[in-house]
Amino acid sequence: MNSLNNQAAGISKNSSDNASDDVLVIDDESRSASIEGLVLSVMDYKDNDGLVTLATPEKLIKVYARGIQKEKSKNRRLFAPFSLSHINYDPKYSGEFIYLINGNVIDSWWKCSESLEIQTASALIVNLIERHGVNPQIYSSLQAFWSCAHKGREQDALLAACKAVIEILREAGMVMNVDECVLCSRTDRIASVSMKEGGFVCLDCLDQLEEDNLPWSKENLMLLRRLVRLPLLQLFKQPLRPKDYALLIELFEWYQYYSDFRMRSLDFLRMLRKERLNAL
Ligand SMILES: [Zn+2]
Repeated sequence: MNSLNNQAAGISKNSSDNASDDVLVIDDESRSASIEGLVLSVMDYKDNDGLVTLATPEKLIKVYARGIQKEKSKNRRLFAPFSLSHINYDPKYSGEFIYLINGNVIDSWWKCSESLEIQTASALIVNLIERHGVNPQIYSSLQAFWSCAHKGREQDALLAACKAVIEILREAGMVMNVDECVLCSRTDRIASVSMKEGGFVCLDCLDQLEEDNLPWSKENLMLLRRLVRLPLLQLFKQPLRPKDYALLIELFEWYQYYSDFRMRSLDFLRMLRKERLNAL
């Protein structure tokens, strides 16, 4: 309790000490700090303000953005979905939030908003990042997902989206074993993936499983192994790509199975996939 009081006293003392310096902050370069990050989400706060979650490669950052709900706010555009933005903030106030001064948009992959599937898959990934945090692998996979989707390279986008989920699974300690049959340790005749057993299963073990697991295609087994083992750049250099949203949905289901966290938008993504298959 004491330390909390001291802390509160410290903060209020600081801000009153610096109150007269406030006008200097924007002009004095040495007193502002900056970061750049991917815009994950924006939450309306009070009447006109917003709380923004940004991802840098190392961590998630909450930005308090004053006035961004106003039509005329110049800072509004910094936090459009699917953007990478550069933010200048006031380092005097740091704690749970950083306080936005201004910034600029570095990249905007706005065409992602034109696809319901991309939007839904992205919202699911963002949701998981907000639960488990970020690291350089997750960050670059998400950025590649948005950038490829914007350029209309759908299969590359799906590859990057799958990689993002795999890295989140790894971060959460839930990644599948793709090095051997998880039941008998053999490395040949791998035939399927068992959610319950946690990874690859061989043909013989598959027959003895109680779950009604279907065999996976050799191509999908190989792709899953590469997703788990190869870094993103090398993944792009190999020829295998997910053909549709099936593998990504499978990975989200894996997360759900191991976390007991119900992802409501996952049903919607499944429905979109069905609709697209029916339209073919
Ligand atoms: Zn086996």
